Amino acid sequence: MSDCLFCKIIDGSIPSTKIYEDDHVYAFTDISPVAKGHTLLIPKQHCQDLFEMPEEVARNLYAAAPKIANAIKAAFQPIGLNTINNNGAAAGQTVFHYHLHFIPRYDEKEGLGLIWPTQTYSSEQLVEVAESIKAHL
Ligand code: AMP
Ligand code: ZN
Repeated sequence: MSDCLFCKIIDGSIPSTKIYEDDHVYAFTDISPVAKGHTLLIPKQHCQDLFEMPEEVARNLYAAAPKIANAIKAAFQPIGLNTINNNGAAAGQTVFHYHLHFIPRYDEKEGLGLIWPTQTYSSEQLVEVAESIKAHL
């Protein structure tokens, strides 16, 4: 897509700090890292988000994910790592070319402060939710 920032990074018209590339994916450092080693993995085929992603693109993208995670682990010895993908502005997406964040964790004071509030559902409610989703598969 001609007006897509990450397509321009893939074609080299906007500079990036490349970490990895194959026929299907491109990985580079996030320009505003949350923590040392914060990396973005993107498909070369433009798709806006996970909702639009063809299965083949997903297969090729995730095939590269362990390689990226293990390289970050070997380079910086984080004590953990989050992979995060924001879909839609309401979910925090700001660049509308799918990207998977790799965010290493070092200690509670550095990097991502993940607030993950939970709700309490009965087993009946969980079944109802599961059935609603299953109806669309
Ligand atoms: P999201 O909020 O999930 O859409 O993430 C977009 C990410 O892209 C942010 O973490 C930005 O720091 C990052 N970003 C934006 N522009 C660039 C760029 N030119 N090079 C590398 N990373 C970028
Ligand atoms: Zn794009």
